[in-house]
Amino acid sequence: MNNEVRVRFAPSPTGYLHLGSLRTALFNYLFARHNNGKFILRIEDTDQSRKVEGAVENLINIFNEMGLNFDEGPGIGGDFGPYFQSERLDTYKKYCDELLAKGHAYYSFETAEELEEMRRVQLTQGKQTMYDRRARQLTENEVKEKLASGIPHVIRLKVPLDSEIRFTDLIRGNVKIETNQVDDQVLLKSDGYPTYHLANVIDDHLMNISHIIRGEEWLTSVPKHIILYNAFGWKVPIMAHVPLILNPDKSKLSKRQGDVSTEDFLKKGYLKETLLNFMALLGWHPGEGEDREIFTIEELIGLFNIERVNSAGAVFNIEKLNWMNAEYIKQYDIDKLTELVIPYLNAGGIDTSDSAKTKRVVVAIRNYINKLDESAEQAGIYYKKVEMDAAQREITGTEISKQIFDNLILKVESLLEITIDNFKPVVSQVQKETGIKGKDLFMPLRLALTGVEHGPELGLIAYVLGKEEVLKRIKQVNQ
Ligand code: GLU
Repeated sequence: MNNEVRVRFAPSPTGYLHLGSLRTALFNYLFARHNNGKFILRIEDTDQSRKVEGAVENLINIFNEMGLNFDEGPGIGGDFGPYFQSERLDTYKKYCDELLAKGHAYYSFETAEELEEMRRVQLTQGKQTMYDRRARQLTENEVKEKLASGIPHVIRLKVPLDSEIRFTDLIRGNVKIETNQVDDQVLLKSDGYPTYHLANVIDDHLMNISHIIRGEEWLTSVPKHIILYNAFGWKVPIMAHVPLILNPDKSKLSKRQGDVSTEDFLKKGYLKETLLNFMALLGWHPGEGEDREIFTIEELIGLFNIERVNSAGAVFNIEKLNWMNAEYIKQYDIDKLTELVIPYLNAGGIDTSDSAKTKRVVVAIRNYINKLDESAEQAGIYYKKVEMDAAQREITGTEISKQIFDNLILKVESLLEITIDNFKPVVSQVQKETGIKGKDLFMPLRLALTGVEHGPELGLIAYVLGKEEVLKRIKQVNQ
């Protein structure tokens, strides 16, 4: 008996990766890696009407970017391919025929109008809306005739009535449902394409999937799937349904409420490490006695345990995400961070050709930003020409200010360069020698260097600007 853990992420490509899907993929990935198993990407693209050009490429790019490497799937292949459902249509047809032959499925010929009418009547009677199983009554001959005359049809699952389906979900616990409430699900559509339910069950079986980890919205499909597994005589994989991600008002995190696509978060400059860390903790926690919030992906792999996923919905807290991203930015390798920040500076019109300066800028701004798209604004003072209004010019134009500037210029000129910590002592020296202190000392300097009253610490500003620029800016106001 092969006990290998094999899990899959099985998106229907919609053109973007919803954060909820990212989390599902991540949980699958962590589970696979924790258990030395396989993580498979399968594209569920049988709904032709929902096809989006480039969606799969986009998805694979994000997976690569996030480092969520799959072991089998589009592009890399594997022993259980093809990994696009649209390339497996013959297989679904074959298994559907098997169900028909064994009496677990049947033809149904209703038109869309008839189905709509059925629904309307059920609604007015206050009944559960579902297919009323009427085509089960057709005789073999009736079916033959209708098929022969080319009447459009679907193939439906023949749900065994008056019994109960029970299963244990690793997150939700024991679930049971009366089969009479289960719809005779369409398995094969009139265009010959399988529905999600049929294709999903067949593929999970044929791909030897051991555990199904997916969003809670699929929980209600499980009874249908179990009926299918039973009809085929196949083993049912272990299930784990992950709770929804919620807005702070407890509504479902959805596109209408703002950005939900992973791409958008990456674009805004949330680091991939932050997103992985944050999403992993959305509904999961490593356990008591663990109060850290920052985990590397390796640590997450080591700690991940699907049974610790909370069954209640997880609230998406953007403040926490911002906090976490800021933490990552502060600790990130400076060269790598600089590389990541450069496009944001360029987009803000900042010339980054002086790479030494760019790096100093990043050293300075990393403590002031939550996400990389705030970089250009924070970096502005290091690049923009200093402009002051009349009131500010008055401050820098006083006798006192002149004394400060004269004194400081001499000292800075004698420095080899301004380092991250040698400017402050210079200013203290100026204070000692001129007797000017506090705001009287700092404000003229700050204004001369930046043109604004507030901002990072002066020593940092001077370090970023560098000796030459510091002298240039001070001399400019000290004429
Ligand atoms: N194609 C389904 C989706 O879009 C897959 C659900 C499942 O994992 O079974 O989420």
